[in-house]
Amino acid sequence: ILDARGLSKSFGALKVTNDVSLQVATGEALGIIGPNGAGKSTLFNLIAGTLPVDAGHIVIAGRDVTRTTAGVRCRMGVGRTYQIPKPFDGMTVLENLLVAATNGGGQSMDEATASAIDILDRLGLGELADTQASQLRLLDRKRLEMARALATQPRLLLLDEIAGGLTEQECEGLVATIKDIRAAGVSIIWIEHVVHALLAVVDRLVVINFGEVLAEGLPQETFRSREVQEIYLGIEA
Ligand code: ATP
Ligand code: MG
Repeated sequence: ILDARGLSKSFGALKVTNDVSLQVATGEALGIIGPNGAGKSTLFNLIAGTLPVDAGHIVIAGRDVTRTTAGVRCRMGVGRTYQIPKPFDGMTVLENLLVAATNGGGQSMDEATASAIDILDRLGLGELADTQASQLRLLDRKRLEMARALATQPRLLLLDEIAGGLTEQECEGLVATIKDIRAAGVSIIWIEHVVHALLAVVDRLVVINFGEVLAEGLPQETFRSREVQEIYLGIEA
């Protein structure tokens, strides 16, 4: 579903992404970890098209989208959550999904409403459909962030630190939801500092450090490797 090669991005003199290549097979869940400031969220901005690349190529579902806008990529099936959730606080939960569905394109209002209600039910937000987004507790804000991404009908879902700040129990619920999404055939890239949650879901792990791929492979094995543990010294899996 995704073939990104040789991606590079600088902000002024700061090279934030340096020759990164990422491949995701259809139906695969890829995890990304790495220290703060390593360039993880920037990778999502490059893949989703909210930032142009300085170098490299991005192919989604066989089409070179390197020079396309975020809107085009959204319509091609790239959905994302933001590390800092960006719902419209003045709108209800349901209205937030309908706005997102319009961005995804191709659905009538009736279809969009039916599918929004279905998504809210699946994510445990059904009862909160008419609640103002500003009134939600953290867990429900995270769920809404995921629901908004799902409302664009993604084939590739980018999750940016969706588990941060949740209790252990809330985190387990979220992991189950992500597994369901994936079982429904959606390919996933998940950036997460809550490593144990990530390792419970992903098929493959990529470790980013200083804007480069430091290690890549099977999740447990890669996380336990010496070079990765050196970075994560003191952080428990
Ligand atoms: P975290 O784990 O804290 O979320 P990250 O790996 O997601 O970190 P990025 O958000 O990709 O890191 O940022 C990487 C570096 O690029 C940081 O030094 C950040 O300050 C810088 N950066 C990110 N976006 C911009 C921007 N739009 N303009 C200038 N610098 C930026
Ligand atoms: Mg980030």
